[in-house]
Amino acid sequence: MIRKTRLFTPGPTPLLPAAQFAMAAADIHHRTPEFRAMYTRVLAQLKEFVGTKNDVIILSSGGTGAMEASVSNLTSPGDRVLVLTAGKFGERWASLVKAFGCHADVVEKSYGQTFTLDEVKAALKLETRAVFVQATESSTGVRHDIEGIAKLLKSENSEALLVVDAITGLGTTHLDMDAWGVDVLIGGSQKAVMIPPGLSYLAISPRAWDRMEATYNPRYYFDLRKERKNAAKGESAYTPSVALIAALGASLDYIAGQAATAENPKGDLAEGRKKLVDNAETCAAMTRAAATALGFKLFAPKGAEAAAATAIVAPEGTDSGTLVKGLKSQFAAIVTDGQGEMKGQLFRIAHIGFFDYMDTIAIIGALEQVIHKTKLPLPNFEFGKGLIAAQKFFADHAK
Ligand SMILES: *Cc1c(COP(=O)(O)O)cnc(C)c1O
Repeated sequence: MIRKTRLFTPGPTPLLPAAQFAMAAADIHHRTPEFRAMYTRVLAQLKEFVGTKNDVIILSSGGTGAMEASVSNLTSPGDRVLVLTAGKFGERWASLVKAFGCHADVVEKSYGQTFTLDEVKAALKLETRAVFVQATESSTGVRHDIEGIAKLLKSENSEALLVVDAITGLGTTHLDMDAWGVDVLIGGSQKAVMIPPGLSYLAISPRAWDRMEATYNPRYYFDLRKERKNAAKGESAYTPSVALIAALGASLDYIAGQAATAENPKGDLAEGRKKLVDNAETCAAMTRAAATALGFKLFAPKGAEAAAATAIVAPEGTDSGTLVKGLKSQFAAIVTDGQGEMKGQLFRIAHIGFFDYMDTIAIIGALEQVIHKTKLPLPNFEFGKGLIAAQKFFADHAK
């Protein structure tokens, strides 16, 4: 059979065709009224998509660039900070704050776990200047309790800024930055907004902007205050990724359009984002139901499963790489193996952004074929068990 390459990875994610067309048409210069109009519009759309009144800054970088910017702009050498880590991306926070000379307290849980609020509370010091955490840890498919952490910081009257890497959390989890009091929320282009890698964005609270007046870690390309000044004029400080910004606009139009009505044919970004989250949750729940019915164990604890990606544990004594390779060679379906210390032990199927019912059913069907072909030791395996569970979930729950 012919094979169509399909990404089921938690970034990059499948591309929205309308965004690809917008990219191809975006041969405009960035110091022109045309660009300023587009940039101003996309920044306003992005605020609605994030669901915040705070300023949003776009950087021409991968998501890690925005993570670095939040550390370099918000801290000074010697600052005491708290890092909450339970996976590969949490470890990135720990490395970053170290690179910028912070004194880090680290709450580290094993891969696949999350922290309790008591553990966070115990690690929080009077001097803690910032807390760094993921909304969803893409390496393990686990969701962290951002609302709970934000409430805790408030109830402790902590001066610590809450910095959340929501690179896979945005568009897969309901997040209310302003109501909860999150200070920085970070997103990336190759995740829920369905465009290629190369842009990151941060929503930044007034408290965090104030902090930047007093911090003195070195920064130049990622100077957020400089970007804010330029953004107010519809420009970026340096040559931006014009094509990706055009793509982002098209993608946000599409997301808004998911909530279109007869009275409001262009839709609404806040409602569209909710639909996108519901969509990811449905795809994730179908996948979990299928994996469980096929006899797999899920990696994330019950109740803390991220809708961004489902991490599925390979049966005892087998290598998850066999399934990853099998899906690629037989069906050109790209799923990811475990990251870091989980390599070989689990594989991850993503649900971020441009995935639908069809994609979800297809990957479950393909997984059944690969289990059969590789004779994976799942004692109760039968063709269709995963598909039936997913179909039933969809019939009973999907909106
Ligand atoms: C993808 C991802 C990143 C890193 O983004 P890059 O664009 O690869 O730099 C950071 N955090 C999380 C949770 C991610 O999923």
